[in-house]
Parts: sequence; structure tokens; C-alpha cells
Amino acid sequence: MTGTALASPSVACAVDKEAPVLRERGQREVFCGLTGIIWLHRKIQDAFFLVVGSRTCAHLIQSAAGVMIFAEPRFATAIMGEKDLAGLTDANEELDRAVEKLLARRPDIKLLFLVGSCPSEVIKLDLSRAAERLSATHAPDVRVLNYSGSGIETTFTQGEDACLAAMVPTFPAEPADSEKSLMVVGTLPDVVEDQFRRLFDELGIESMQFLPPRHSTEPPTVGKNTRFLLAQPFLAETARALEERGAERIAAPFPFGAEGTTSWLRAAANEWQVSRERFAAVTETKRRRAELSLERYRDRLNGQRIFFFPDSQLEIPMARFLSRELGMELIEVGTPYLHRHHLADELSMLPETVVLSEGQDVERQLDRCRSAKPDLVVCGLGLANPLETEGLATKWSIELLFTPTHGYEQAGDLAELFARPLRRREKLRV
Ligand code: SF4
Repeated sequence: MTGTALASPSVACAVDKEAPVLRERGQREVFCGLTGIIWLHRKIQDAFFLVVGSRTCAHLIQSAAGVMIFAEPRFATAIMGEKDLAGLTDANEELDRAVEKLLARRPDIKLLFLVGSCPSEVIKLDLSRAAERLSATHAPDVRVLNYSGSGIETTFTQGEDACLAAMVPTFPAEPADSEKSLMVVGTLPDVVEDQFRRLFDELGIESMQFLPPRHSTEPPTVGKNTRFLLAQPFLAETARALEERGAERIAAPFPFGAEGTTSWLRAAANEWQVSRERFAAVTETKRRRAELSLERYRDRLNGQRIFFFPDSQLEIPMARFLSRELGMELIEVGTPYLHRHHLADELSMLPETVVLSEGQDVERQLDRCRSAKPDLVVCGLGLANPLETEGLATKWSIELLFTPTHGYEQAGDLAELFARPLRRREKLRV
């Protein structure tokens, strides 16, 4: 495969990489990292997520995942009672017994995650040592890993980051004579993963893998010939773990909308020196179709003013997509953490006038939001209802994780997520 490398996307308007950001440290309104289990347990089909937490943690995960009573879910909570919290029992012994029972009943489990929570962290239960001990006991049938999903200083998408980062050190090294391979990092619905696999295949990038894998028994390999593309903007720890194993990140915007998807694919194509002609032949029709699917939303969304509360860490790529492809006006784009390095391409595509904020002081941000009177507010569930009662249209940011949104074929569905609340509010007004 040879040819001219493709030019980077032209940038009409840009936020300076060092542009000032409003930094806030106050009360936050976010879900905790346990939430990630909802999409992770559907993806890694032989994994099980055992939350070591309280009844509150169990309720959160049970009601958010909405599992039917007869289903055999791939998550559960080892509930810590008052005696555990008061240090009156040996929590490790109880945990070992709970794991023993679970694995005896569910021989399909090949990878068990012990997921830390606020209560387990408060009593300083060392889940990494527990995971080592249990791994040794249940090897080679089951591997046990741990990560934190606690709500202490996290936002909900950090759960996925922590989970994937915990997996990386366990991946086998790539063979010494291996060729350059591509790894796409971030949980994608299987249907989207298949679409991307076909696209990369048509581009001639045949050696490719996904993280997380669908089965823990078929993990990706990693090493200095691994190039990885982030599919989600909240995977800082995972990226760091991959880099520690010698892999290199391909810098790119994220694959949301026609433009984002094209730029993301182009970044990989450049790395593999795919010719301009071949890239166009593979992507042109799909890109046009995606643009067409966005067209019917443009009238509805063009000129509408949008305000993002910090929640999912998807705010900046979404803001880029909505402003550039649908003409929405960005008032404030809040994000829990701003990873300037991973978001450099995204930031360079935001309009100069945008107000960026990092972290949260919820009361102050609510004041700014109310005084700006936006047409649409993107926020967590806890803020949505009060804002709706004040007459503002809202979009739950968590839906951006539950709905397939990446790639060309989902571009229209992504726009629909933002158009629907505006339609609903209009109907309510009549
Ligand atoms: S981990 Fe913490 S924030 Fe999350 S449900 Fe449990 S107690 Fe609540």
C-alpha cells in the first residue's frame, strides 16, 4: 500500500490550544463510575462485574441496568453490611466466599472484575490484593482483576477508563516479527465495531483489534508496533497504560458525525499511507450518505443555542459536531476534565467564541445557564428534571453512551438525540 498521505482537515475556526478555561471546583452533579458496567457487561461476553459496595451501589446498578428478574446478569453487588463497614468482620474472607459461590454457579465466567465503590474505598479494602489472591486461587479458569468505580472524585465514564486500563497489563505482547497493527480503543456496540472493521479492511488495514475484546479469552496483543485510535475521549488512563506497553496513539478527532468520522479514519489512513484515491473510494459514498442524513436535522437545529453541563466527557466532541455540522450555537461547553492533548484536534475545530469550563460548581453554572436561556441543555439526570420544570429543554448526557452514536451510519441518529427534546418542547408549548 503506497501513495500520498492525505492532508489534515482544514480548520476554519479554532480555539487556541492554550485558550483560557473557566476552572471550577465546587459541588458536582454526576453519576459514579459504576455506571460503566451497564455497557461494559454487554460487551465482554464472558466477564462478570462484582461491585464490592453498599445497598445504594446495588440499587444504582440494578435500576440503571434494568435487568429482568429471570435474566442471568453479568454483574452483581457483594453488599457490605454495617459490620463490614465498622471493621467487625474480615471483609476479605467474606469476599472470597462470595466469589467462590459465584464461580461455582457460573462456570461461563472467565474474567471477574472486583469493582471498588465509595464504601470499599472508605474502609480501605485492598481490592488489588484481593484480585491477586483470587486470581491465584481460580487460575487458569478465571482471571480476577480490579478497578475503582467509586464516586469519590470521578465522573461516570471514568469507570470504563479504569476497567480498560486494568486489562491492558494482562494482554499478551505482540509477536516480535509482527507488522504494524491498529487497535481501536473504547466500547462500541458490536454493529458499529463491524462497520469500522469493514471500513479499515477496505482501506487495506487488515491487522486490527478492538479494546475491549468481545471475549476475554481472545485479548488483543500490544507492543511497539501497535498504533491505537481512541473511539472515546475519556480514556486517558487506558491510553497511558497502552503507551507504557510501547503502543503509540494516533492523534485524531473522535468519530462522531460525517466530518469527525472522516477525520478519524483519515488519521489511520495517513499512518498506513493509504492513497488519497483509495481513501476517497472507500469513504466518499458513506460520508455523503451521512451528510444527507444530517441534512433533515439542520433546519431544526441550526441557530439553536446549546449549553453543556460537565458530565460524560463527550461534551467537546459533541459541541464540535453540533456547531460545525448542524449550525448550533455553543454557549458554554462544560467538561469534568479537559485532556488538552487527546482533545487537541477537537479543540482546534471549536469556534473561538465558545466558553469552555472544566470541573463544576453546580450552583454557579446553573446561574449562568438560567441567565443565558439556552434552547437546549445537555446535562445529567439529576439536573434535567428541575431544568425542565423551569421551561428549559434538556438532553440526558448518559444517553450518548447508551445509544450507538459513532460512525457514518449513526450520524443521523446522533443528530436525532439532540433534535428530539426540542420537538417535544415545541409540542408541549402548543
Ligand atoms: S459507588 Fe459511591 S456514588 Fe456510586 S452508588 Fe456506590 S456509594 Fe453511591
